[in-house]
Amino acid sequence: MTTREDCLSRDRADPLAAKRALFTLPENLIYLDGNSLGALPRNVAKRVAETIDRQWGATLIKSWNEHDWFDLPRKIGDRIAKLIGAPSASVVACDTISVNLYKLLGAAIHLRPDRRVILSDSGNFPTDLYMMQGLIRLLDRDLELRLVDPEHVDAAITEDVAVVSLTEVDYRTGRRHDMKRLTEKAHAAGALMIWDLAHSAGALPVDLAGCKADFAVGCTYKYLNGGPGAPAFLYVRPDLQDHIESPLSGWWGHAAPFAFDTDYRPAQGIVRQQCGTQAILAIAALDSALDVWDDVDLAELRRKSEALCELFIAEVESRNAKHGVTLAGPRDIRERGSHVSFHCPEGYAVMQALIAQDVIGDFRAPDIIRFGITPLYTRFVDIWDAAAILTRILDQRLWDDPRFRARKAVT
Ligand SMILES: *Cc1c(COP(=O)(O)O)cnc(C)c1O
Repeated sequence: MTTREDCLSRDRADPLAAKRALFTLPENLIYLDGNSLGALPRNVAKRVAETIDRQWGATLIKSWNEHDWFDLPRKIGDRIAKLIGAPSASVVACDTISVNLYKLLGAAIHLRPDRRVILSDSGNFPTDLYMMQGLIRLLDRDLELRLVDPEHVDAAITEDVAVVSLTEVDYRTGRRHDMKRLTEKAHAAGALMIWDLAHSAGALPVDLAGCKADFAVGCTYKYLNGGPGAPAFLYVRPDLQDHIESPLSGWWGHAAPFAFDTDYRPAQGIVRQQCGTQAILAIAALDSALDVWDDVDLAELRRKSEALCELFIAEVESRNAKHGVTLAGPRDIRERGSHVSFHCPEGYAVMQALIAQDVIGDFRAPDIIRFGITPLYTRFVDIWDAAAILTRILDQRLWDDPRFRARKAVT
């Protein structure tokens, strides 16, 4: 049995411990929801204020050139590329995951005109599936969304599949797909592969180049701490960049946006995937939020993530099996991402009771309580305390209160 003292000493020995001071975190709050909205890095407020006062306020429209606003999405793309095993000039920060996925799906479908299946799994995040459904309706040419259980993706990659579109880490259970193996399988069948890295970027090492993925998308407001609604990102394998067309052919992806031609002519390279003007204040916030990653060893990050997840699983299970709390997703830590979820009877009310005691996780229907483990600012002692508080809530039925059952709009 691990003691609270053990956790305090593990925190003292933690090579990433100093990172926590780079974030603004309310005192006494145990924040285990950085997989939904990352914490605020301290340097962001100053950078955004400067962008407002010294750039927008002082140099107005000249800022697009003088402060490099126009190139920021691409430059930030290069910073993100380092965190996901992608070469420079293969990533751009823009739009949302939903929009970026749509662009890449549209491009991929065009590259495989003789095939009629988009393959995904039932564990994928709903917006990904909704975007596939919308594109299929729009194209109106007998395309099919084939949805299978995550365990059966492998067998479903057949020669009629145009594109396989999957999320590496399941947003509910934390189950992780084998990117390399599935990408190889897709390629062997002649299909293209799109990875959604929403719960991977900043959570664990990713090797897009190594696994030869064709395309990827991901978001920056989760583990990358870019702030609410921060721009997402998109990756295109370098040799494909000039051979695909975005279905959202806006002027920021034009070869000469300021020539104002009446006809669309795509730019070369990754900027072809941009669409329209980006939210520069949000981009500035993201750029400064990424500073905390400059010297992070992702292998170290993963080691800490695994240790924190294992501790939480052990503490919660050993104390709460009697309450029907069971681990969601695989038990082997190597097959998991960086969040831990449990099936929990009355899970919604239990999570509300936890939040009332300053332990913040979230609830995912139908019965999952979910805890994001963000190794840059989560301590071993936080994990230990969160497990103890959850146990108290269950042992004393503190969740059994009408105010904890009333559903809010965002869970
Ligand atoms: C969070 C998340 C999204 C969010 O998509 P947006 O369009 O950026 O809101 C998409 N896909 C997955 C897998 C996610 O976890």
